[in-house]
Amino acid sequence: MKLTNILNSGKISLSFEVFPPKTDTSFENVMAATEEIASLSPSFMSVTYGAGGGTSKYTVDIASNIERTYGVPMLAHLTCVSSTKETVRTRIADMKKAGIENVMALRGDIPVGMKDDDRSTWKYLHATDLIRELKESGADFCIGGACYPEVHPESECQKDDIAYLKEKVDAGCSFLTTQMFFDNNLFYNFMYKLREAGITVPVVAGIMPITNAGQVERAISLSGSFMPQRFKSIVDRFGSDPAAMKQAGIAYATDQIIDLFANGITNVHVYSMNKPDVARAIRDNLSEMIGK
Ligand code: FAD
Repeated sequence: MKLTNILNSGKISLSFEVFPPKTDTSFENVMAATEEIASLSPSFMSVTYGAGGGTSKYTVDIASNIERTYGVPMLAHLTCVSSTKETVRTRIADMKKAGIENVMALRGDIPVGMKDDDRSTWKYLHATDLIRELKESGADFCIGGACYPEVHPESECQKDDIAYLKEKVDAGCSFLTTQMFFDNNLFYNFMYKLREAGITVPVVAGIMPITNAGQVERAISLSGSFMPQRFKSIVDRFGSDPAAMKQAGIAYATDQIIDLFANGITNVHVYSMNKPDVARAIRDNLSEMIGK
């Protein structure tokens, strides 16, 4: 199913993200976690591509297996910055063959050692280039893109970031998913600016449940997200108690999602990081709101 059917329905959607195994030997564990998350009947699931250290070769396999076996609509991620045209075209052909309908088109983080002065040799400079390639492939993909309520770390200012985002949408992006954020007001403000810029596609709010203190630094360094004092206090108070931190992190994420739903945001994606217990707890906390 094309995700736009879900995201434009006006009904609440709650979806989860998983990442592929880091090594071939961890494939079984990742599949087990992914299947458990699929059994929660999320509105859809996404599978990252090479993010978080996961290898990219399994993205399409995991996405197509889960959709076939569990009937959960799947979104397969694809990045381009460090890839050749040949690799990207092969991946697109693999997706077509596997019946993938939804693709998250990303530039990807610039690998350490890939120097800016080599830029003229890069085959894909921005996610927009990948979106054009996907469109030219002739497959009727439903294409998503990433957006940044707190501005992409490489952008000079939000105005430029949003102008490039408009180009991305105009190139053929049918929906956007946000980088994680911990302060909903930043997201509401961003949504206002997107609509003002003429970006009208559905925007899925990305929520990351922080369930251990070690995740905090990594999440901030990856996303540059602002940590509200309320969240910092939770980490200060419970960070050294794993069970308490997990419970508080799930409660904080749940609270953020309830606030989003209450303010008319219908589509929320949880960065569940291959943790079925966290996905289940959040789903259960929201069961009456999502009708499950
Ligand atoms: P772009 O849209 O290309 O933007 C990158 C920067 O370039 C921004 O500063 C933008 O303003 C600027 N820009 C865009 N177009 C132009 C232009 N024409 N001229 C000048 N500047 C321009 N990473 C992975 O490796 N695998 C994943 O699966 C993955 N999934 C993600 C899912 C989501 C929802 C998000 C938010 C991020 C994900 N990432 C993933 C991380 C992502 O790859 C990085 O954030 C990356 O740095 C930017 O990717 P992008 O697609 O947003 O890039």
